Amino acid sequence: MPGIPYQEIKPPQRILLGPGPSNVHPHVQQAMMAPVLGHMDPYFYTIMEDTMSLLRYLFRTENKLTFPISATGSAGMEAGLCNFLEPGDVAVIANNGFFADRMINIALRCGAEVIQLDAEWGRIIEPEAIEAALKSRKKVKLLALVHAETSTGVLQPLTEAAQLAKQHEALFLVDAVTSLGGHELAVDDWGVDICYSCSQKCLSCPPGLSPITVSQKAMDTIPNRSHAIPSYYLDLSLLSTYWIRDKGQRAYHHTAPACMFYALHEALALVAEEGLEARIQRHARHGAALQAGLEAIGLTMHVPPGYRLNTLTTVHIPDGIDDARIRQRLLSDYSIEIGGGLGTLKGKVWRIGLMGYASTEQNVLLILSALEKLLAEEGYKTETGAGIKAAVQSLRK
Ligand SMILES: *Cc1c(COP(=O)(O)O)cnc(C)c1O
Repeated sequence: MPGIPYQEIKPPQRILLGPGPSNVHPHVQQAMMAPVLGHMDPYFYTIMEDTMSLLRYLFRTENKLTFPISATGSAGMEAGLCNFLEPGDVAVIANNGFFADRMINIALRCGAEVIQLDAEWGRIIEPEAIEAALKSRKKVKLLALVHAETSTGVLQPLTEAAQLAKQHEALFLVDAVTSLGGHELAVDDWGVDICYSCSQKCLSCPPGLSPITVSQKAMDTIPNRSHAIPSYYLDLSLLSTYWIRDKGQRAYHHTAPACMFYALHEALALVAEEGLEARIQRHARHGAALQAGLEAIGLTMHVPPGYRLNTLTTVHIPDGIDDARIRQRLLSDYSIEIGGGLGTLKGKVWRIGLMGYASTEQNVLLILSALEKLLAEEGYKTETGAGIKAAVQSLRK
């Protein structure tokens, strides 16, 4: 049509070392080109069955309800909350980061009363605070924590929290968006009832799917609700009629985004091929090397040792250095994306992700040398090569 301006789509090749999305694995990209099938095609069902088994392996669970929701990670969050919270319920929720804050926002929209577990952005929620909150009401319906807070770089310990939730008969919900496939996570052993993630972080698949797993104990609370679940699209019982074959039957709920299902299937197969434990070790090795390198450049970490993510590092921006300028130069000179700070950390930290396919030795050495060079050009005093040297020493360990 003449007169309507448009361009050919030609996105640049980027190295995605931000808080997500991460670089898509080439095999995953390839899988997306397979022919689209109907969502009721018998072959398509076999892809779905594989996906559920592979997801159970990743989440380390036997939960029957384990499948991806056809939307991004926030949909997993919303499904995890809106199926279990209603007006009159009390929820205890972390308040120590951007995504914790989003959980609170959603729980309030569900009509729940929220008891917030306050901590500084960059600190964990202590078990004592969880226990006090759970004891403060006769009945708490749900405890919700973020395992890997992508906004702060904090790894939240979960085992004690799970025990406390169990003692107080509260359901335990965990956001594992930036930990699934990158950090140790054991849904059944730890006693997590509701856990969700997304496709574009440590699984190196495009954004668009949100794997979720829910225990039978949690599902058994749904018939006791006084209010209907406010979302049709995220109603887990309805979604189950499509995903979980009942007497050989499956029911249409929504049209499955076939190409995304192929992509996730391939991404999960790649995790199984590498081995979950080996993959977690890979993230640990590269996360540690990056952090050693950044400290050798003279930069300081935002999170105390012992609670740092391997998948996402938050590092303080030195005084006198322009946040946006460095990130813009990383993009224009090296085609590398890193993240800036969110919320209270805006302008104060950089967020460097090493997730999935992007968690490589190559990328560790590349980001350290690029950052060191740009910082020096912007007037920051550092010993040339110090970052690389420390990272190489860490990698040799
Ligand atoms: C990215 C992220 C989300 C939200 O996922 P979207 O795919 O952006 O909807 C939720 N929680 C955490 C911890 C995240 O990092």
